[in-house]
Amino acid sequence: MSLPPGSVIGIIGGGQLGRMSALAAARLGYLVHIFSPEPGGPASQVAAFSTVAAYDDEAALARFAAAVDVITFEFENIPEASLALLERLRPVRPSAKILGISQDRLLEKRFLNNTGIATAPWAPLHDAADLAGITLPAILKTTRLGYDGKGQALVRAQGEAASAFVALAPKPLVAEGLVDFAAEISVMVARGVDGAPVTYDAVENRHKHHILDLTLAPAPLPLDVLAQAGQIARQIAEALDLVGLLGVEMFVTAAGTVLVNEIAPRPHNSGHWTIDACPVSQFEMHIRAIAGLPLPPATRHSDAVMKNLVGPDDIAQWPAILATPGLSAHHYGKTEARPGRKMGHYTKLFPKGGLPGEFGIADGIRIGE
Ligand code: AMP
Repeated sequence: MSLPPGSVIGIIGGGQLGRMSALAAARLGYLVHIFSPEPGGPASQVAAFSTVAAYDDEAALARFAAAVDVITFEFENIPEASLALLERLRPVRPSAKILGISQDRLLEKRFLNNTGIATAPWAPLHDAADLAGITLPAILKTTRLGYDGKGQALVRAQGEAASAFVALAPKPLVAEGLVDFAAEISVMVARGVDGAPVTYDAVENRHKHHILDLTLAPAPLPLDVLAQAGQIARQIAEALDLVGLLGVEMFVTAAGTVLVNEIAPRPHNSGHWTIDACPVSQFEMHIRAIAGLPLPPATRHSDAVMKNLVGPDDIAQWPAILATPGLSAHHYGKTEARPGRKMGHYTKLFPKGGLPGEFGIADGIRIGE
């Protein structure tokens, strides 16, 4: 059953993903209620209702659930007990089970490999003795609470591995074989309550200081690689019985092999280009999926490059961005520009098949660099 306009969508988390989801929900006639520990954040600024409380405040969670028709999240590190409580009171989409898998790199890799999906080789590290068995070079990662390269260390020798094991927390860790990738790509996949999954085109992601810098849509890679990436994303959505939206991050090797790095059951930074380049953005697709509305094909009317605005230096370019014709600018409403903080993004559209080569991207996309 689909939610009629006027229904209330509850979103756990108050950042820019919640903000852009709330804007999409408003276009479909829904009201949004944000649950976040911080008042006045990017999402609350554009939502009809907000609850300011800790993610483990059970009384506040119960009141929030009573005030909404369906619950989703834009932030992954929600305590499992909180989600279980919410799930007893209202539909939570994607499900707490899916969030649980994506919160834990070991569960995630086991799920992927059991589904027949290739990842980098990996091994769990519960204590220092487990380091003896790993193949170097490797990346050690915390299994929980890591993001944007935090909670990770590249190790090339056993001595480095031992000190990285001590330094990284919380334990356990996972050791991953270092993938010599030709490109990092991602696919956004959405699935409705009982429908077939729909995928946006695979995009290439380029990082600076471990934070997403540019997304190129579509990824400038052979069509069979893009098709394989889409197929993998749909297979994951089916295997998880997904209702909602999920981002799949992947590596492509020089030989064209696609390996899944991680999954995120929410709108994703690498899907922001869809706001400007697609009739239905990732945010609208997400809201449609959780509200039981029909999902149209995730088509793209243009090629696009998305540039993240990270920290004080990038956001200082805001006036120049607004003064540049042809850029679609998005500000997240954050007042404090700390280094590494995502402040906004802009998208530049190109005719289909007209994505510029390397020179054009460096020259035309990076304002003021
Ligand atoms: P993650 O937090 O897992 O998304 O990792 C952050 C970034 O580290 C990725 O976007 C890659 O650039 C790099 N990275 C992570 N895992 C590996 C790996 N197994 N091999 C090579 N690079 C990796």
